[in-house]
Amino acid sequence: MSTLDTFPYPIPEFGTEPYWAAANVGELRVQRCLDCRRLRWEPAPLCLDCQSQKHEWALLSGRGHLTTWTEITHPVHPAAFAKVPYLVVEVELVEQAGLKMISNLINTTAAQVEIGAAVSVTFVAHPNGQHLPVFRLDAP
Ligand SMILES: [Zn+2]
Repeated sequence: MSTLDTFPYPIPEFGTEPYWAAANVGELRVQRCLDCRRLRWEPAPLCLDCQSQKHEWALLSGRGHLTTWTEITHPVHPAAFAKVPYLVVEVELVEQAGLKMISNLINTTAAQVEIGAAVSVTFVAHPNGQHLPVFRLDAP
């Protein structure tokens, strides 16, 4: 299998290693500033609110709701031919207003998706072994 046949995968680096390590054990963790206590996604070397460099990796519930979404129908990478159509979503996590992350919504179709729908995180393994946080719709 060439690298073009393999869907791109994250490379844990630049301080994101704890995020990806947590995903590998089924945990969704984001950085929490130790000075102003604000949560942030994506990982960053300093707080965007108070510029503090001190943080911890806070364990989240993995629950949230959809704030926007799109269906990808055009494969932008050779490995995506087998995946389309798939859903890319923005999820606002319950722990903090405005704490949003980008991910995929699995086990559903575009016809079933509504803005505001409750979702929960789950994890899928990339062929290289790295687990990726993705979301699925909560039961009604
Ligand atoms: Zn801060």
